[in-house]
Amino acid sequence: MSEPLALTGLPWPVELRTHPRARRLRLALDEPRGLLRLTVPRRVSRSAAIDWARRQAAWVEAQLARIEPAEPFVAGASIPFDGGEVLLRWDDAAPRTPCLAAAILTCGGPYDRFGDRVARWLRDEARRRLVEETFILTARNGIAHAPVSVGDAGTRWGSCSVSGAIRYNWRLILAPPEVRAYVVAHEVAHRVHMNHGPGFHALQAALYGGDVGAARLELRRIGPRLKRVGRG
Ligand SMILES: [Zn+2]
Repeated sequence: MSEPLALTGLPWPVELRTHPRARRLRLALDEPRGLLRLTVPRRVSRSAAIDWARRQAAWVEAQLARIEPAEPFVAGASIPFDGGEVLLRWDDAAPRTPCLAAAILTCGGPYDRFGDRVARWLRDEARRRLVEETFILTARNGIAHAPVSVGDAGTRWGSCSVSGAIRYNWRLILAPPEVRAYVVAHEVAHRVHMNHGPGFHALQAALYGGDVGAARLELRRIGPRLKRVGRG
């Protein structure tokens, strides 16, 4: 058994196990560990097994949707935020603009718009922090500043256009700071290298200053939950 692999298109890392008696390729969810277990018959090559696993993305998403409930923004819910958990609290006497104190996000106003106000606050918070974190990293490393925006585009956590504009998924505010910092380092490295070549990887590692592989795996592990929060 080897280190779990992060495969493009699959939300969880994949752990390969060669099984002498296995007759066909099989993929299974290991929920407690947040891993996909790929059983590989002896006669199937590693690269063929990986190709096959990549094509199971739709099946994996369907399984995850079934086992993991939606997490709407409702009073009493707990959501991941910046490495911790934050309790959502509704108080009709409190201001409509949510206020975070001691891991409790309090929001007033009519309850039917509670979820929308929480979502807008998280998005604003994501933009504020990601703009700041990107600015600090570019400034420290002598890289020209970039316009930064946030959105919720599909499966990507960040992107950098040829013009140098960086766009992040606002859901990164739900991730621990070290995971967010990895995405920021990745996109800032694209300000210098518009590819994933050796120069890019060296710069990404230098900008991040930590274990890039571990951060990438962690993002893949927690990603499905981050994408469920606020939906349903
Ligand atoms: Zn990239």
